[in-house]
Amino acid sequence: MIQLVKGTKDIYGAEVKAWQSIEGKMRRLCETFGIGEIRTPAFEFTELFVRGVGETTDIVQKEMYTFTDDGDRSLTLRPEGTAGVVRAYIEHGMHNNAQPTKLYYISPTFRCENTQAGRQRQFHQFGVEMLGSYSAAQDAEAISVAAALLEEMGVKGVELRINSLGCPECRGRYNKKLREFIGSNLDRLCPTCKERFEKNPLRVLDCKEESCQAVIANAPSVLDCLDEECTAHFQKVQDILTEMGIPFVVDPKIVRGLDYYTRTVFEFVSDGLTVCGGGRYDNLVEECGGKPTGAVGFGLGIERLVMILEKQNGAIEEHPERDVYIGSMGEKGLIRAQGITLALRKAGVRAECDTVERSVKAQMKYANKIGAKYSVILGDSELESGQVELKEMETGEKETVSLAELAEVLLKKVK
Ligand SMILES: [Zn+2]
Ligand SMILES: [Zn+2]
Repeated sequence: MIQLVKGTKDIYGAEVKAWQSIEGKMRRLCETFGIGEIRTPAFEFTELFVRGVGETTDIVQKEMYTFTDDGDRSLTLRPEGTAGVVRAYIEHGMHNNAQPTKLYYISPTFRCENTQAGRQRQFHQFGVEMLGSYSAAQDAEAISVAAALLEEMGVKGVELRINSLGCPECRGRYNKKLREFIGSNLDRLCPTCKERFEKNPLRVLDCKEESCQAVIANAPSVLDCLDEECTAHFQKVQDILTEMGIPFVVDPKIVRGLDYYTRTVFEFVSDGLTVCGGGRYDNLVEECGGKPTGAVGFGLGIERLVMILEKQNGAIEEHPERDVYIGSMGEKGLIRAQGITLALRKAGVRAECDTVERSVKAQMKYANKIGAKYSVILGDSELESGQVELKEMETGEKETVSLAELAEVLLKKVK
């Protein structure tokens, strides 16, 4: 037997209903916020992610699904959503439109992750990118989308944590200070951090190892390294969030894993898990070959959201529900039931009929199983008279209805 690949998952039954509901809410919310959908390819040139995500990141160094195609080009399955959107923004000259350009995506995403830790190798990301503004108002708008979404989803105990990494100059100053601090505590760090602190000391702040956490607790704050402009920008983001009624805490330890963030970064945390994270990335468009463009965005893993919602609200249960079951007795009844069922479906009734040629008793059992609210049975006498007994499954109450009026009667009952 061929099984699915480790780190992938089939989504079906009750779970896919939950996904559809979540995706529906995402789409409706984006419509309200004036955010259009974008669907970029599942694979891109590897170079895009190396430049767009950052060479020193774990994603690029060890988590990408990279392959060479028959034209000897190096291609990579999308390991995150932002780079492809930025590539499309530049390629289609979207900067020529009235700005900002606001886009969202719901896409399968691929990373060669450690499946032992329960990580998926194909997972799904909802993301929003807003390009074409340097204003703090744009940061706040992006954050407000995420906040509204989590509220709409009913995620409980959500805390918004925000920070600013400053512009490249501020960040450079902070990196230097942080490197000095970490250098003097090097013996207490985990092996990974010992290795990465030279190239990217910010990443040490992200480390979950207890020994590293203990060191980080006393690390200098990035907020003390911000210049006047970056400080003012961060203050303005906070003022707007306050005006919007979105509660937040300032947490100078939030750095996010990616190299490209500038100024505002943020995370929404629930039950100690990051549900959603993002930030401003003012240099990424230029890095990918476009003109300097202010931009801000966030991403949210749908698997993680489903997991958190299940933990908070209990397992997703399946409640099958159909409007009517058209049972049949005998050959003529079976054939006629198929036609009537199709006519009912076209009229908008959720109808089912027998397609496996069960006994009448087994058909009624099946009608119960699929949650049919009403049922009829078509036998020779019903076909002759054109009248059927419409039975309400829960109460057992029956009424006589003509076949010609069945759709009309049912639509009235179930609507
Ligand atoms: Zn600055
Ligand atoms: Zn560490």
